[in-house]
Amino acid sequence: MKRKSIIIALFTLLLLLAACTDGEETSNHSSDSEAAKETEKDVKVNDEDVASPAGELQKLDEGEAVAQLQADLEKIGYTLPIDGVYSDVTTWAITDIQLQLDDLYVTGVYDEATQAAMENILEGKLTIEVGAGLPPLAEPVTTDSGSLVVGNPYDQLAIINKENALPEDYEPHDLVVPDVRFPFEEDLPKKQLRAPAAEALEALFSEAEAAGYELFAQSGYRGYDTQVSLFKAYAAEHGEEEANIFSARPGESEHQTGLAMDITSESVSYQLTTDFGETPEGQWVAENAHTFGFIIRYEEGKEDVTQYQFEPWHLRYVGVKAATEMVENNLTMEEYFAENE
Ligand SMILES: [Zn+2]
Repeated sequence: MKRKSIIIALFTLLLLLAACTDGEETSNHSSDSEAAKETEKDVKVNDEDVASPAGELQKLDEGEAVAQLQADLEKIGYTLPIDGVYSDVTTWAITDIQLQLDDLYVTGVYDEATQAAMENILEGKLTIEVGAGLPPLAEPVTTDSGSLVVGNPYDQLAIINKENALPEDYEPHDLVVPDVRFPFEEDLPKKQLRAPAAEALEALFSEAEAAGYELFAQSGYRGYDTQVSLFKAYAAEHGEEEANIFSARPGESEHQTGLAMDITSESVSYQLTTDFGETPEGQWVAENAHTFGFIIRYEEGKEDVTQYQFEPWHLRYVGVKAATEMVENNLTMEEYFAENE
C-alpha cells in the first residue's frame, strides 16, 4: 500500500514537472505565429511515438491533444488550422474519415476506434480520400423558411432547431431498431435510432428496469417526407405558427437525426404528455438520462431558448460528456455551445 502511494506520488510529480515545462515554453513566446510554431514542434516530438492522441476528444475541447490530432489530420491531407481547438472543421475531418471506414460510429467524435483507424491510415495500412465521405459545403445553404442547412448532419453534437435544419435528403445510414420495449407490435420506421444512440438507449432502459421502472419507446427516427406530411396536417388544423410551437417544420425535427427518441410509460397510457415528467419513471429519466448520453432536449423554463414547449418525453443523444456538462450546468444545447464559444 505504502509503496503504491510512493509510486503514485512520484508519477504525479513527474506529471507536474512536465506541465510546468509546457507552461514555461508557452509563456516565453509572445507572438501568435511563434506559439503556433511551438505547437507544431511539440506535436512533431510527440509524433515520434507514432500514436495518435489517446482518449476521447470532441467539439469544444481544447489543448495539446487536439493540436496533435489536427497535425495528424493535416498529415493525412486535411487542410485545417492547427490551433488546438476542436472546431467544426476538425469535426468535419473526423466525420469524413469515419464515413469512409466500416465499423466506426459516425459521430464527429474522436473515440478509441477512430484513434486506431487513424494510426492505420498514418502507417499506410488504410487509405481514405479527403472529402469523399462528407464533401464540404461550398457555400451556406438555407431552407425556404430561412433556416441554415447544417453541413454535417452526422455530427453527434449538431444543433437542429428553428434556425438550423438538416439537409432534405439526409437519411442516416446506420439506423437500427433498439432492443427496448415499445407499446406497439408493428415494425414501424419510427422504432429506429442511429446505432450509437440505440446502444445507449438499450443501456438506459435496462438500468431503469433494474431500478424498478418500465420505460417504453414511442417514436424515434422520422424521415424528412414523414415530417412534411405531419407538419402539413398540424398546420391545416392549427395554422402554421401555432403548429410550430409543438411540431417542427420539415428538416428542423430532431427526429430526422436518428438521435432522438420519445419515451413514455404505462402510467400515462403511453402518451407523450407533460404528465410523464411527474411519474416516477419520468423523474428517474430526468435524473439519470445524462449518464447514458441523453438530455431532455426541451426543458421546463427554457422555452424561450429552445422555442419549444417542455417535453419531458423527448430524449436527444449527445454522448455522456456533453450531456453531463449540460445537465450539471443547467444548459440547453443552444446555451452549451453559445457559452463555450
Ligand atoms: Zn420528440
